[in-house]
Amino acid sequence: MLKRPKITIVGAGGNVGASVVQWCAQKELGDLVLVDLKSNAAQGRALDLAQGGSFGGFCPNFVATEDVSFMQDSDIVVVTAGIPRKPGQTREELVTVNAGIVKNVCENVKKYAPQAILIVVSNPLDAMLTVAQKVTGFPRERVIGMSGVLDSSRFRSNIARVLNVHVKDVSAIVIGAHTDKDMVPIVSTATVGGVPLTKLLTPTQIADVVSRTKRGGAELTELIGTSAWVAPGFGVTAMVESIVLNQGRVLPCSVELKGEYGIADGACLCVPVQLTNKGAEKVFEFELSQEEKEALKAAYKSYLEVRKIALETV
Ligand code: NAD
Repeated sequence: MLKRPKITIVGAGGNVGASVVQWCAQKELGDLVLVDLKSNAAQGRALDLAQGGSFGGFCPNFVATEDVSFMQDSDIVVVTAGIPRKPGQTREELVTVNAGIVKNVCENVKKYAPQAILIVVSNPLDAMLTVAQKVTGFPRERVIGMSGVLDSSRFRSNIARVLNVHVKDVSAIVIGAHTDKDMVPIVSTATVGGVPLTKLLTPTQIADVVSRTKRGGAELTELIGTSAWVAPGFGVTAMVESIVLNQGRVLPCSVELKGEYGIADGACLCVPVQLTNKGAEKVFEFELSQEEKEALKAAYKSYLEVRKIALETV
């Protein structure tokens, strides 16, 4: 008998987790398990969503609990458990607290859902992915980080705003590390309706768009007082959808690099990845400009520093 995919969201009582739950429910991607240390928060989020189904046009099937064993045999586990940054904080400053949380969650994933595809969202993202990989021992195909979809979405929306065009016609990606300093918005391949971005904007305008993209998370955190959740929720859902529907979309995701872009030694950074029902099935490589190559190298160096602290913690 065919089964609906089982998707567990750990941290679902919080903002990003609840947003993932909402979009996955609206798209009816599977049966949802909402896990959170604060079970009331998870139950409240689930109830709110269920009450919206009538006019939202969906009928969510969910369990909300603090009991991690409910993730048993999940096909996908999304980890949003962890503290978010506050105004003025960097994502890297969350490393010691969140490494412990991600370790704890991943021990349970290994125990209860050993075949799951794991999508990590907690920050600092790339180092948390390494923690997840170390704790679970899952192959790289099944340990994937969400950051690039969000950063690329911000990049695209900034381009669309400056040019006053529909965002659907903007094709642009961000790779590298998920930090304000070391994400790498790729200008050399960015296009709008098939036209290179460099033909449409001046170098100064492009520099502004790139800088605003890198500060995208910080800008929102200053405005809201905590980090964003709507766009991150969409980002995770696009990844979940590509996996459960076996769409084979190529999305910027963080994964362990095995020599691609000249980077190895277990480093996790964001690059274009094909997502299928096997998880991160294929890493796509392309030619970077000299400036982009240097920026990616700098991202790798910064990642190593954060990873060192994360691994010392767990
Ligand atoms: P939040 O505080 O609203 O929610 C976090 C939830 O995790 C809380 O409900 C908390 O009870 C729960 N939690 C903590 N430890 C847990 C554990 N061991 N088991 C189960 N649940 C646990 O925070 P948020 O805004 O939802 O952000 C969550 C994380 O996602 C943060 O680390 C944030 O920095 C990160 N984030 C990443 C991206 C990205 O692009 N990768 C984007 C936005 C936020």
